[in-house]
Amino acid sequence: MATTEVVQSRRIVTEIPGPKSRAIQERRSAAVAQGVGSTLPVYVEHAGGGIVEDVDGNALIDFGSGIAVTNVGNADPRVVERAAEQMGRFTHTCFMVNPYESYVEVCEALNRITPGDHEKRSILLNSGAEAVENAVKIARNATGRQAVVVFDHAYHGRTNLTMALTAKNMPYKQGFGPFAGEVHRMPMAYAYRWPTGPENCGPEAAAAAIEQITKQIGAENVAAMVIEPIQGEGGFIEPAPGFLPALVEFCRAKGIVFVADEVQTGFARTGDMFACEHEGVVPDLITTAKGIAGGLPLAAVTGRAELMDAVHGGGLGGTYGGNPAACAAALASLEAIESDDLVGRAREIGALMLDRLRTLADKYEVIGDVRGRGAMVAIELVKDGKEPAIEALAQVVAHCHSRGLILLSAGTYGNVIRMLPPLAISDELLREGLDILEEGLAGL
Ligand SMILES: *Cc1c(COP(=O)(O)O)cnc(C)c1O
Repeated sequence: MATTEVVQSRRIVTEIPGPKSRAIQERRSAAVAQGVGSTLPVYVEHAGGGIVEDVDGNALIDFGSGIAVTNVGNADPRVVERAAEQMGRFTHTCFMVNPYESYVEVCEALNRITPGDHEKRSILLNSGAEAVENAVKIARNATGRQAVVVFDHAYHGRTNLTMALTAKNMPYKQGFGPFAGEVHRMPMAYAYRWPTGPENCGPEAAAAAIEQITKQIGAENVAAMVIEPIQGEGGFIEPAPGFLPALVEFCRAKGIVFVADEVQTGFARTGDMFACEHEGVVPDLITTAKGIAGGLPLAAVTGRAELMDAVHGGGLGGTYGGNPAACAAALASLEAIESDDLVGRAREIGALMLDRLRTLADKYEVIGDVRGRGAMVAIELVKDGKEPAIEALAQVVAHCHSRGLILLSAGTYGNVIRMLPPLAISDELLREGLDILEEGLAGL
């Protein structure tokens, strides 16, 4: 199976989006529901390494990885070959009807690489939201309790239960209620905006969350606490030091299932295989998706055998969960992450990017905060103190897009520029992308 070699350099030959993309965009308006948006509507022809090529012949630098999915690079030949070989043998049987070995192998790999050396089990699903829903089902079934604790700025998906778990109303929840019950939201250790300062944030936020859980819900009623070890859509908020360990300790003492939602942070993205390793946190259940299979749709819940196996036979599953092509892609992708040492590569990318972004923050007052780890870094744009600088963000992002740099925004206040390059990107493209970002900041 031949894959297309994508030249690793930026090339802009039309305005962005170009005439062919604009023509498809017009057809799209008449065919595709308006509710689904696109950050940068250039229509894609090829992609590989750190480059996305569009139908007009432009080659753009990728700082998005399709939202933290193509960690190993887009169309990595090892992933493509393995998935194609599988598809030539069979495309689907449904694991619940006739199983196949690759599903078992992916679960073995997840059980091995996720934090903690306890006995584990996994289940495979299709999407991050489905993984989070299943983690809640498992925690409720295993504990016989109902309440679920989540946090400010959280994002856990767009299904009914995961909308309830997600914090931000617009655009994720507006008009889509009623939402699932027994979901309780706690303060997040957002160091940059913590009222008494970043040094106090971790312990104070943990104490506030624990008090609210104790007084308002009753710890004995809580099935699960679900948290992203670095919040993604919420604006790459790294919990202040001490926050996660304090919460885990509380959960352990009270029999609450601690669920790390690593859908965005997983698979080497943050410079650890999983972001919760940074503070030595061992979750009871961990949800994964995005970076798992080099771009094919796959998701998982992995966790303590006694919790995972508490659910009755037939209680978990789904038609497509653990599709054989996606399993083959996941096996190739997990091998590539280990053999290419993408954990180490993510640390190098983080060092390069954070160093440059901190220099930019010294130079441009609009950057209020630089944060993140590994290849998951962000700048928060502010004016007049810590007021969100939304217009500045729109201007900088528009500049980057017009110059062929794919960038995403994020954040509860919509004022965070997030960067998630594929871990296969070259230093040269990283530097060039950051140069384009600086031009955008200089032009404000
Ligand atoms: C993207 C995301 C989800 C939802 O994943 P989908 O595959 O879009 O359903 C859940 N949790 C986190 C942390 C995410 O970033």
